[in-house]
Amino acid sequence: MHKITIAIDGYSSTGKSTVAKQLADSLGYVYVDSGAMYRAVTLYAMQNGIISKKHFDTEKLKESLSSIHLKFKKEAGWNKAHIFLNGTDVENEIRNLEVSEFVSPIATVPEVRTKLVAQQQQMGQEKGVVMDGRDIGTVVFPNAELKIFMNASAPERAQRRYKELLERGDVVTFDEILKNIKERDHIDTTREDSPLRKAADAIEIDNSEMNLEDQFHVVLQLAKDRIAGRV
Ligand code: C5P
Repeated sequence: MHKITIAIDGYSSTGKSTVAKQLADSLGYVYVDSGAMYRAVTLYAMQNGIISKKHFDTEKLKESLSSIHLKFKKEAGWNKAHIFLNGTDVENEIRNLEVSEFVSPIATVPEVRTKLVAQQQQMGQEKGVVMDGRDIGTVVFPNAELKIFMNASAPERAQRRYKELLERGDVVTFDEILKNIKERDHIDTTREDSPLRKAADAIEIDNSEMNLEDQFHVVLQLAKDRIAGRV
């Protein structure tokens, strides 16, 4: 059966990665979490004194880009590929609130985007890929056969994220999560380079009132139709 490229974009914490992974598993496709790449660059910047609450040294970040090597690796027993930053598995660390607070400013830097987009395009060269992010259908794979744009209300998204972080054992409050989500939405939609927007040919799904199973079936049917060339 011929393989297609599936782009899933949308606001923060809309469940993009959950549905993208379900879809990839069900179709036997590769799942790529592009947000993990921006998060790993952010972690590098935090670890190397490039970004903190008080300053952001964009020049140093640009100079450091050639020293940042990202790789996805999946081992037996893991339910998804983990991201490695210069050889270290940082999958867990990149999910904390501190990284979430710095990632959107880092993602505004055009040189960062150019580097990561090139790597993402490389990973999707052979199709059979489901990639989620903010600019996948608009910039990374403008010719993707299926583009989904996901949305949900900000409080609903914050509630889901809050639950996820509490389950991990992180100490956070609902209000700081909601604030972070709103800030990221603002930066992601207003940045100059590749702002988050729905591609003209993307199908929008608002999942505020949908459960995971219903949402998966809707998206899987769309993918099957595209693969069969029905729509
Ligand atoms: O998907 P996730 O929420 O982990 O992404 C973290 C951040 O990375 C986003 O808020 C956005 O600033 C940035 N990002 C991006 N382009 C992508 C994926 C993520 O700018 N394709």
